[in-house]
Amino acid sequence: MTSLPASTQRALGLAIDLDTCVGCHACIIACKEWNTANYGAPLSDRDAYGSDPVGTFLNRVHTYEYQPADSDSLDFQVTHFPKSCLHCEDAPCVTVCPTGASYKRSEDGIVLVNEEACIGCGLCAWACPYGARELDATAGVMKKCTLCVDRIYNENLPEVDREPACVRTCPAGARHFGDFADPGSQVSQLVRERGSITLMPEMETKPVNAYLPPRPKQQACGHTASAVQAKSAPETASPTGFLAWLDGALSRLEGSSSDKTA
Ligand code: SF4
Ligand code: SF4
Ligand code: SF4
Repeated sequence: MTSLPASTQRALGLAIDLDTCVGCHACIIACKEWNTANYGAPLSDRDAYGSDPVGTFLNRVHTYEYQPADSDSLDFQVTHFPKSCLHCEDAPCVTVCPTGASYKRSEDGIVLVNEEACIGCGLCAWACPYGARELDATAGVMKKCTLCVDRIYNENLPEVDREPACVRTCPAGARHFGDFADPGSQVSQLVRERGSITLMPEMETKPVNAYLPPRPKQQACGHTASAVQAKSAPETASPTGFLAWLDGALSRLEGSSSDKTA
């Protein structure tokens, strides 16, 4: 089993705004392109246009239509939920790894896989509660979001490009990259202003990435002003509304993937 660093000097991660994400999938394409041609190359795709396609993606976007649990109307709301590794502080995908291939960096908190040491056992994907790892069927090793570690420190790139490909690409400005350990960083400020929630806190993974909650849609959906005001307050404790529903959906997903693994 593999140890985690006692602490990290920085806590690099993403703040993803569920209010402004439009579900365009541009971040998925940018991620796939960068990681197929660079650090994690190649991210396999087999039979991409056939009847049984198999592929590896480090970032996926799920779209949900739901009725907010705390809504006083019958209207539904659509929210897009981008999902990639959350670079957890207490990452179970690291401690479960039998070879040390899965590790968390002490200098910046990024969780990576050393593909040379990975034996493709799949234990880390089983341990991740968020479904954020994918076994590359062609390479036989585990793949996951690297926070574009080969971009963010890459002095051969123009400074403006030294951020994850998904962040650089997002046309809605819904993805923000920075150091959550620095209270003055943009991502820390966004969390202070908007609030965020911890997905599946009962798993005690302490994710670094933050999701900024979607704001309730207003009169067009028939909501009352009082309800809109009440729901605009930052969420800091237990998830409510969409995030409570999403938490449950992820738990059910985890339950069903554990069933399949067993
Ligand atoms: S590129 Fe931005 S707006 Fe498009 S799906 Fe990704 S996070 Fe959402
Ligand atoms: S999201 Fe999953 S893969 Fe990423 S650090 Fe957390 S447990 Fe590990
Ligand atoms: S698949 Fe690779 S990284 Fe994951 S637990 Fe097994 S050896 Fe470690």
